[in-house]
Amino acid sequence: MNTVENYIAPGSIEEAAAALAAGPVTIVAGGTDLMLQTGSGAIAYAKTLMNVRRIAEMQGVSIDGDTIRIGALTTITELKSDAIIAEHLPVVAEMADKFASDQIRNASTIGGNICNASPAGDGIVPLMMYGADVVLASAKGNRNVALSEFFTGPGKTVKADNELLVAIEIAKPAAGFKGGFGKFGPRPALEIAMASVALGGVVKDGVISNVSVAFGAVGPTPMMGAKTTALLEGKTLNEETISAAGEAASEEVTPIDDVRASAWYRRHLIRVMTEEILNDVG
Ligand SMILES: Cc1cc2nc3c(=O)[nH]c(=O)nc-3n(C[C@H](O)[C@H](O)[C@H](O)COP(=O)(O)OP(=O)(O)OC[C@H]3O[C@@H](n4cnc5c(N)ncnc54)[C@H](O)[C@@H]3O)c2cc1C
Repeated sequence: MNTVENYIAPGSIEEAAAALAAGPVTIVAGGTDLMLQTGSGAIAYAKTLMNVRRIAEMQGVSIDGDTIRIGALTTITELKSDAIIAEHLPVVAEMADKFASDQIRNASTIGGNICNASPAGDGIVPLMMYGADVVLASAKGNRNVALSEFFTGPGKTVKADNELLVAIEIAKPAAGFKGGFGKFGPRPALEIAMASVALGGVVKDGVISNVSVAFGAVGPTPMMGAKTTALLEGKTLNEETISAAGEAASEEVTPIDDVRASAWYRRHLIRVMTEEILNDVG
């Protein structure tokens, strides 16, 4: 492991952005990914390590009109119990309940989960399904990027080195929107997903609309399920539709064979979890 020469802990986004503009900086939030990656030598620290946990503007969940704002420092534990999340984004709370263990959830931030950019990052999948944007701040100002366009490959994003992820913004889902999150791994807890699905829509008089689907761990980045969405939109949610949606989902994902599961098995899991969620929302 290389050595850190300067440690800083700014109290505002402005100070953090100025530090990022001044030179190479490694950002740490909860450290649950970073410590393992630097410890194993997979990544090296920059000379300056910046702890962002003291920035109050990046904490907590709030609502302003029709927009829900989740500060990047919000922990997975907070997402699990927050009243705004429970009321408007319950699929995020469901994800938090399936994430790691209490100890890891207490330290893990949603911003760290997104910036780590793992194809299997659990926090990403329901937020993508809800159509979230990320808010990136730099010394030049803020920009919003759709979460579905944020990832470019495993561990890679469109975020520049001088940018800090400060928040996630989500428009309030349509009235009656209902969804679910499915995650499968060989153990019930402390498991990285072999495959995951977040799916939701509004079911009225048996017909599903406002459909949105996202998948995790079945491609180089978390992905939107455009074909599954198109197949479901406006359909009567019966056995035939559910089965066709499971088939479409298993066909549109692009998993690989690796030590944790075969591509065939991941497609099978996607089909089963898609059908299960649709069965529950109907
Ligand atoms: C035992 C164990 C179990 C786990 N289980 C799960 C699980 O079930 N599901 C899952 O998805 N993950 C899991 N993880 C991975 C990890 O806990 C999460 O990805 C976590 O949310 C990362 O957040 P963090 O605050 O700890 O990030 P950190 O480790 O602090 O940072 C991660 C990366 O993001 C960057 N970064 C952090 N915050 C920002 C920011 N605001 N702006 C810009 N860059 C930033 C850092 O520089 C670093 O590159 C597990 C990890 C462990 C050790």
